Amino acid sequence: MSELAYPYEAPASQALFDRAAAVTPGGVNSPVRAFGAVGGTPRFMVSGSGPYLTDADGREYVDLVCSWGPMILGHAHPEVIAAVQEAVARGTSFGTPAEGEVALAEAMVERVAPLEEVRLVSSGTEATMSAIRLARGFTRRTKVIKFAGCYHGHVDSLLAAAGSGVATFALPDTPGVTGAQASDTIVLPYNDLEAVHAAFAAHPGEIACVITEASPGNMGVVPPLPGFNQGLKDACAANGALFVSDEVMTGFRTSRAGWYGVEGVVPDLMTFGKVMGGGFPAAAFGGRADVMAHLAPAGPVYQAGTLSGNPVATAAGLAQLRLLDDAAYEKVNAVSARIQGLVTEALTKEGVAHTVQTASNMFSVFFTDRPVHRYEDAKAQDSFRFTAFFHSLLSNGVYLPPSSFESWFVSTAHDERAVQRIADALPAAARAAAEVTA
Ligand code: PLP
Repeated sequence: MSELAYPYEAPASQALFDRAAAVTPGGVNSPVRAFGAVGGTPRFMVSGSGPYLTDADGREYVDLVCSWGPMILGHAHPEVIAAVQEAVARGTSFGTPAEGEVALAEAMVERVAPLEEVRLVSSGTEATMSAIRLARGFTRRTKVIKFAGCYHGHVDSLLAAAGSGVATFALPDTPGVTGAQASDTIVLPYNDLEAVHAAFAAHPGEIACVITEASPGNMGVVPPLPGFNQGLKDACAANGALFVSDEVMTGFRTSRAGWYGVEGVVPDLMTFGKVMGGGFPAAAFGGRADVMAHLAPAGPVYQAGTLSGNPVATAAGLAQLRLLDDAAYEKVNAVSARIQGLVTEALTKEGVAHTVQTASNMFSVFFTDRPVHRYEDAKAQDSFRFTAFFHSLLSNGVYLPPSSFESWFVSTAHDERAVQRIADALPAAARAAAEVTA
């Protein structure tokens, strides 16, 4: 058992982590869960209800991770659970088409105007991987532009300078990605249109697509500067490339129609995951019908999946989308604004340099007083202050993402009691952030 350098213990979680480490690399099935950046014992959760998670030691937390975005209605929402139970009772996987997947696709197309056709998959990674393949197949070009600090899942060609866990663990280029895959990826600084124009000029007729997070949340929340996404769209159109907007995180979260609904820039292809799965493995890519027509079996670009459009996952996603009306978004936006205000107040009171950045109801706190427009800015923050802040909140029952490079997420279930618990925990956390030394 490892030594705990923290003022509280989580013996049941630690015992599970030790067991996990014996059979799973690093003891987790997705790297950021291991608390590598902040240290201490990852909490093994046993249940979730509304805005709360309960760990194996019986301690309850206000959850500001919401499963990294999907749980926008909170945990175990009764109507989502009922839809899942009803679907499960009818069978869990058929390997045939079924009505639920049609209904989910229809609901997505109805909400997001540029989405003419959708293909369902099981993870955001699969969605971006497939969208890139389709863009290459459609344009018959090989190169892809991505931005440093943007994370699009663990797709080989998109791991260069990725955000999220790659940023958290300060990993260099990942071993296992071939030179050919890496050399077909052009990595540019985010929010820098001149760099995009220069890349198109340097590689005429070679660039299949530009992929960007619609509004990045994987280097902390770094929204596009005004005109950036439109500039990408225009540069793609002028150069015969496709504009791929990754809405896995922002889709159906930042508005009824995701970030597209906030900004109105029309992509050629879009990717989705998280909220549309209602806490189950469902994701999608879609967009222009003439591009999607290149996908098998309609066209030659192959893409498939045993569990794609799974009836339980589509039932959960559809139930969640149906509950996400304008009132729900107003509620999430309002609670997000309240928590942002409380964080700012507490950190300001203790004189801690910080910047809260938002994209609709997504937000994160950077421990720097400078605005963060690109990955280099995000890396320049005082991350050691985040670590102290995180552990103080954790010990007082507030569960933040265990990294300063992640968005915080709230839900419609974050009520007055949950907000009060955060408010009560913040002064000590701000003090801890102020007092810690690098
Ligand atoms: N794209 C974005 C913007 C994401 O935030 C993520 C995951 O966090 C992905 C893609 C990958 O999704 P998944 O983890 O479901 O593979």
